[in-house]
Amino acid sequence: MAVVKANAYGHGTEVIGRALDQFVDAMAVACLEEALTLRQAGITSPVLLLEGLFEESEIQAAAEHGLWLTIDNEAQVRWLEKSRLSTPVKCWLKIDTGMHRLGVQPENVAGVHRRLSACDNVSGDPVLCTHFASADDVSSGQTLQQLERFEQATAGLPGSRSAANSAGVLAWPKAHYDWIRPGYMLYGNSPMTVPHVNTDPLKPVMTLSSRVISVREIAIGETVGYGATWTAERPSRIATVAVGYGDGYPRLARNGTPTLVNGQRAPLVGRVSMDMITIDVTDLPAARQGDAVTLWGPELPVDEIADCAGTIGYELTTRMPMRTPRVLTSG
Ligand SMILES: *Cc1c(COP(=O)(O)O)cnc(C)c1O
Repeated sequence: MAVVKANAYGHGTEVIGRALDQFVDAMAVACLEEALTLRQAGITSPVLLLEGLFEESEIQAAAEHGLWLTIDNEAQVRWLEKSRLSTPVKCWLKIDTGMHRLGVQPENVAGVHRRLSACDNVSGDPVLCTHFASADDVSSGQTLQQLERFEQATAGLPGSRSAANSAGVLAWPKAHYDWIRPGYMLYGNSPMTVPHVNTDPLKPVMTLSSRVISVREIAIGETVGYGATWTAERPSRIATVAVGYGDGYPRLARNGTPTLVNGQRAPLVGRVSMDMITIDVTDLPAARQGDAVTLWGPELPVDEIADCAGTIGYELTTRMPMRTPRVLTSG
C-alpha cells in the first residue's frame, strides 16, 4: 500500500498516483478530499482513508468512490451501522498499541470487531492494523512492545494484518505481516534516525535546485542578510541564489547548511529570505552568476538539510509550495 497523503509528501498527488497505480495493491491518504483527487486523476487502485471518516456526512462519497475506511473510534462504527450504503465498504480496524493518537483500545478490539462483522455495510473481515511511534529508532524497545500488544489484541481474530510504515518496512521484518504501508521511503528518502544498511538502495525522487543570480566580494567584518547574522571573517565571495522560504527552503536553516554549487559544497551564510539565500563561495573561485545550485537531491539528502533546520525531511518535502515549478523527469 503506497502512502500518498499530503500531496504525495509534496511531490504531487496526480503524478505520483499515476506513476504507482499499476504497481501497488492500494494507496492511502489522510482524508476524503485527497482520495477524490486520486479518483479525479483516474487512479483506480483501492484507496484507504488512514484516519477514516471525520464526519458522518462523508460516508456516502466514500462508499461511492470505493474507498476503504480506517475504523479507529466508536463514532465511526455507529455511522457505519446507521447508514444505508448501496455497496459495502472495506474496513481497517486500527488498534492503539502505544502511539496513543488514534485507534481502538486493545480491550475493546473484540467488541468492535464483532460489530463490524455483523454490519451489512462492511465488506469482508476488517484488516487489523496499528501504527508505530518509534520504528525509526532501532535501539528503542517500543516497537517490540507495540508488536506484542498487537499480537495479543488480535489473537484468534480472522483477517489480514498491517503494521509497518517505512521504518517498519526497512528495519522491522517481524512487522511486515500482510500489508506494508510505506510512505516516505517511496520518495527515496530514509526515515531512520541513523544510517541503516537497508536504506542504501533508496534514491531521492525530489531535487530542489536553482541558480546563482548574483556574486559579490565583501570585506572582513561585513555582514550578510537580514539581521546581520553572519559576519565575514576573511575577504569573502558571496553568491546569491534564487530560492527562499517562499520556495520551500527552510527559513531556520542555520549558517553552514550545505548547498551544492556545480556539484561542490558551499555553506549557507546569513538568514534565508523569502526569495533568496546567500552562500559563501570563497573556496569555489570558479563559481559565477548562472551556476546551478542544488539545495537537496540525490547528492545532498533532504534529511541533512532538515537537520540543519531543526526538522525532518518529511516536513521539507511536504511543505513544498505551489510557487515552486515542478519539472518531471522520467526513468
Ligand atoms: C503516514 C502513515 C504511514 C506512512 O509513514 P512513513 O513514515 O511515511 O512511511 C503509514 N501508516 C499510517 C497510518 C500513516 O499515517
